[in-house]
Amino acid sequence: MKRSFITMRTVLVVLLALACVAGTAFAGGGREEGDAAPSGPVRLNMGGGWVTGVYFPMAGAMSRIVHTQMDNVSLTVESSGASVVNSNLIRSGDLDMAIVQNDVAYYAFNGTGVAAFDGNAVSNMRGLFTMYPEPVQLIARADSGISSPSDLAGRRVAIGPLGSGAEVNAIEVLQVAGLTEGDLAGVERLAAGEAADFLRDGRVDAAFFTVAIGGAVIADLAVSQDIVVVPITGEYAEALIDLRPFYATATIPEGTYNNVPESETVAVLAMVVANESLSADLVYDFMSAVFGNLNTLSSAHAAGRMVTLETALDGMPIPLHAGAERFFSEQGMQ
Ligand code: GLU
Repeated sequence: MKRSFITMRTVLVVLLALACVAGTAFAGGGREEGDAAPSGPVRLNMGGGWVTGVYFPMAGAMSRIVHTQMDNVSLTVESSGASVVNSNLIRSGDLDMAIVQNDVAYYAFNGTGVAAFDGNAVSNMRGLFTMYPEPVQLIARADSGISSPSDLAGRRVAIGPLGSGAEVNAIEVLQVAGLTEGDLAGVERLAAGEAADFLRDGRVDAAFFTVAIGGAVIADLAVSQDIVVVPITGEYAEALIDLRPFYATATIPEGTYNNVPESETVAVLAMVVANESLSADLVYDFMSAVFGNLNTLSSAHAAGRMVTLETALDGMPIPLHAGAERFFSEQGMQ
């Protein structure tokens, strides 16, 4: 079986803001009078996701916000398979922050639901805020004849990058279709961009992507290959929502992808998590900076427009970081 994915430690974008910009104010205020400014540069890192996905541009936008709004703090973004591997790197202390799916955050924190977390909970993971829906997008070649999840039997399928939340969702979709990996003719765990290449070349018939509507990996593929978004609706959607409370129905509007009509599926939510070990002041300042500059997120990708203070606690599956708790309680939300 071919296995290839972007090495979790591959640093594709390094945005370091080591210089302290004298006099830069924190966007939302934050320090209490008499608090000392942090001494020496604070270097944080954030686990993004697929270079062709939406976590990566979102994390890049947060890095820019930190650069412009937080004195003496930098945020480096690392690409990765995404949710599961990011959670493992929070546990090991290799990541300070990460973007993950809210279903995977729950499984990680509670040590359940995913083999990687069984008996190995990520108990130092804390929630910061939820961001935007991530529909489970099952993409098939238009000529494949696949029109429902059960049609995947006997086909070659890319079930999400190694260490992704997409893989967790793909296995759950197979489960409600009464299928296991063994019922497929071939199973690939490829980096998202590579899965799209395999689909274009006919090396797989279908591929799972759990990614914001309009994710580049699907949008780019649709330009050069006729694709369908296979509906995950009716009995499949109901069974998934029964199986896991994190799923909700979602609609992918017509025109999102070249020549693809409106389609129905289920979605989870993207969220930002942090390592419990970060100081409450630092996290509070980060929250203030991000929510004071949401336009930077919306200009990075359309999904960023869905990040709002009002919805930032919707679907929050794990305890908040102390700094986030303080931020939300000052906003009257706790
Ligand atoms: N939701 C995906 C995952 O955890 C990552 C999507 C992205 O990188 O935008 O598998």
